[in-house]
Amino acid sequence: MARKFFVGGNWKCNGTTEEVKKIVATLNEAEVPSEDVVEVVVSPPFVFLPVVKNLLRPDFQIAAQNCWVRKGGAFTGEVSAEMLLNLGIPWVILGHSERRLILNESNEFVGDKVAYALSLGLKVIACVGETLEQRESGSTVAVVAAQTKAIAERISNWSNVVVAYEPVWAIGTGKVATPAQAQEVHFELRKWLKDNVSAEVATSTRIIYGGSVNGANCKELAAQPDVDGFLVGGASLKPEFIDIIKSAT
Ligand code: PGA
Repeated sequence: MARKFFVGGNWKCNGTTEEVKKIVATLNEAEVPSEDVVEVVVSPPFVFLPVVKNLLRPDFQIAAQNCWVRKGGAFTGEVSAEMLLNLGIPWVILGHSERRLILNESNEFVGDKVAYALSLGLKVIACVGETLEQRESGSTVAVVAAQTKAIAERISNWSNVVVAYEPVWAIGTGKVATPAQAQEVHFELRKWLKDNVSAEVATSTRIIYGGSVNGANCKELAAQPDVDGFLVGGASLKPEFIDIIKSAT
């Protein structure tokens, strides 16, 4: 089964209403390959989800950047998966390294979130990735395998999961992984899925790369056999995001 190219734009904690409207207007005018070729998902901060939902072209989709680990209720400051569904938001990014590292989200907590969000029918962009220290000590594959295992232990259906490999040392640093470095980890992740979940899941699950992707480096990364798209941070706020979408072809 062919894996459809996937390009996510993670806007992180950026923007004003005016800026968000401008980004959406730029995206709405863009000429990009059709939905059959590339799935485009943008992820604004929670407060801008309704405005983006109202304005964004229908062939692009929307993701939240996080959601609560179980049913909503007395959890001050959290946003539940139920609320996202109520707003008509189909996707959520979970386990981003900024949340794992700055907010101390453990592998298990991320796994619980992924399982809960999927159980309600949300689609999940599940992020994994190693720090520079972990890479230098040779534990990259063990780290991403442990992160993936905590998810695999809690879910049985991978059809609504996209795995985002985002080496922490490449995020927001301008230090992109080389195509060979990205391909190596994507290959290992796919092998892990084959050995520990199933050959079918390994073949069909999209594994996208994130970390300093831009209009100039996306083509070569996209050409790697196990790179099925991108999760883009900084460049997703700029018109070059459109060039990244176009790297699908
Ligand atoms: P970056 O961020 O493209 O700014 O490096 C990627 C991400 O954190 O998803």
